Amino acid sequence: MLEIKYELSENLKEKPKDETKLGFGHIFTDHMFVMNYDEGKGWNNARIVPFGNVELSPAAMCLHYGQEIFEGLKAYRTADGSVQLFRPDENFKRMNVSAKRMVIPQIDEEFCLYALKELLKIEEEWVPHTEGAALYIRPFIFATDPYVGVKPADHYLFMIILSPSGAYYSTGLNPVKIYVESKYVRAVRGGTGFAKTAANYAISLAGQEEAHQQDYEQVLWLDGVEQRYVEEVGSMNIFFVIDGEVVTPLLTGSVLPGITRKSAIEICKKKGLKVSERKIAIDEIAKAYDEGKLDEVFGTGTAAVISPVGHLKWGDKIMTINDNKIGKISQMLYDTMTGMQWGKIPDEFGWIVPLKD
Ligand SMILES: *Cc1c(COP(=O)(O)O)cnc(C)c1O
Repeated sequence: MLEIKYELSENLKEKPKDETKLGFGHIFTDHMFVMNYDEGKGWNNARIVPFGNVELSPAAMCLHYGQEIFEGLKAYRTADGSVQLFRPDENFKRMNVSAKRMVIPQIDEEFCLYALKELLKIEEEWVPHTEGAALYIRPFIFATDPYVGVKPADHYLFMIILSPSGAYYSTGLNPVKIYVESKYVRAVRGGTGFAKTAANYAISLAGQEEAHQQDYEQVLWLDGVEQRYVEEVGSMNIFFVIDGEVVTPLLTGSVLPGITRKSAIEICKKKGLKVSERKIAIDEIAKAYDEGKLDEVFGTGTAAVISPVGHLKWGDKIMTINDNKIGKISQMLYDTMTGMQWGKIPDEFGWIVPLKD
C-alpha cells in the first residue's frame, strides 16, 4: 500500500459558527488528499496537504475533452460525538466502474477508503455538530496531460475535498416540483449514464434551466431513444409507489446506480414491501395517477436522502401526488436511513463504518 505524506496547514480557518447556515458546497476544510497517476509508475505521491489551488497547464486534457469522474458521500456525527460513514466502500467501487467507462486508471479501493479516513481524522472537528448537517466528501479524478489531442491521458490527479453542508431540509421534508423533460435527453444506450462523470451534468444544464424558468426545481429524464421510459432525476434516482407496490427503473446502463437507491430497495424488501425494478413508461405513471393508484413518488440520493415529489408535470398534465405531502413509505425510508446515518437507530445491515474502530 502507498504511504501517505502529511503536510499540515499552519493557518487553520475559522469554522462556521452558525451550522444552520452552511448551505451546500461553498465552504472547504483546511486540508485535502491528493495523489498522482503517471503512466508506467501507477498511482504515486499520496499526500494530505493544505486545501488550495491546483496548478494546471491550459492544455490539460480534462479542460478540453472532459476526462473526469467523481463521487459524493458524507461523514455524520452521532449523539456521542463520534463520526461515521454510510457504505463508503460502495462509493469507491462505483468510482472504479466510472473510471473504466472513461478510460481512467483503476484505483485501489481499500487504499482510497483508508486515505479518506486519514483525511477525516485530521478534519474531524469540521464534521458539523448540528442535527441534519454533515461533512460532504467529494473524491474526484481528472486528466492533466498538457496535450490538445484526443486520447486517454497518461497523467491524472485523484483528490478528496471536504465541505461542511447544512441540513437539506431546514423546514421539514417539503415535496419538490418536477418537470418531465421531453425535449432534451441525458443519456443513451451505450453512453455514459451509469458513470458519475462531469459530462452527464454538463449535458443536463439546459433542461434544468428551462425547468427553473417554469418554476420547477428538477427534471425527470426519459430514455434517450423513445423518450417514453422513466430514467432518473438530475442527481437522484426515482421511485413510484403504484397501488402499494414500490417501483423503480431498472438499471439498463443509462441510469446512475445510486447507493441510496440500492439501500432503499434493500430496506423495502426487509420490511416485506413488494419492490420491483423494471421499465416504467411515463404514460403508465399518468394512467396510474388518473386511476388514483399513484400513491407516492420520491427521489433518492446522498444529498437529500429521500426527496418526496409533490408535483409532476408532463406536457400539459400536472399530477399532484399524495396531496403534496410526504407519503408513508417515503417517510419510513427517510427515518430508517437518516436514523442509521446519525446513529439514532441500530444498523441491521452492516452499512455503517465508524471513523475510528
Ligand atoms: C450521484 C447520483 C445519484 C445518486 O446516487 P447516490 O449514490 O444515491 O448518492 C443519482 N443520479 C445521478 C445522476 C448521480 O450523479
